[in-house]
Formats: sequence, C-alpha cells, structure tokens
Amino acid sequence: MNGPTCVRCPGVKLRLRSRELIDVHRLDRPAFDAALDAQIWVCPNCRRIELRWPEDVALPEEEVSGEEKYLQQLQGMSEKELRSIVNSPLRGEEIRAAARKLLEERTCAQT
Ligand SMILES: [Zn+2]
Repeated sequence: MNGPTCVRCPGVKLRLRSRELIDVHRLDRPAFDAALDAQIWVCPNCRRIELRWPEDVALPEEEVSGEEKYLQQLQGMSEKELRSIVNSPLRGEEIRAAARKLLEERTCAQT
C-alpha cells in the first residue's frame, strides 16, 4: 500500500508512528469521555504530524444540516412542547423555525 504523503512537502512520504486511542471529551455531551482511534503519521522532512482515520474503522456518518437535525430532535415532542420552543426567545432561530415547521405540518394533517 502507498502511504500518505505530506501536504507541505511534495512527494515526501509520511511515516507511521503509531496508532493511538486518544482521550477526548465531547463538548456536546459533557458527561461523556470517549476515545478517538487514530493513526499518527509524521513527515520526516518538516516534522508535521498528521492524524488519520484508520482504514479498518467505518467512517463517521455525514453530519446532517441544521434544520434537518432539529427536525429529528423535535419529532417526538408534543404540540405543547413544540409551541413553547417556538415562543421561547432563549432558543436559537434555527430550532424555532424547525419547531414552527413541525407544528404547521401537524395542523395541516388534522384538517
Ligand atoms: Zn512535510
């Protein structure tokens, strides 16, 4: 297999130093600590370090866009909960728009 080359030094092959489980703390879920399984590659020329996702580990799912993500989050909520999100000035504009959209869909379905 041809290893990766340095993005700075044309044609210089990176050397694999090791594969590590790196401790990471998730900002979106503060109670969770997780480990990142990563390969550490080093350029022998400029000493730049590159982390690469191991080839035997499935790639992460593509991040869904803002509105789509909120729609999924709000899907199971009652109309009352949705309405309180729409009317809450503390919520972000995107999540309120998603809640409004779900409410409209539900009102349409009833008539
Ligand atoms: Zn380099």
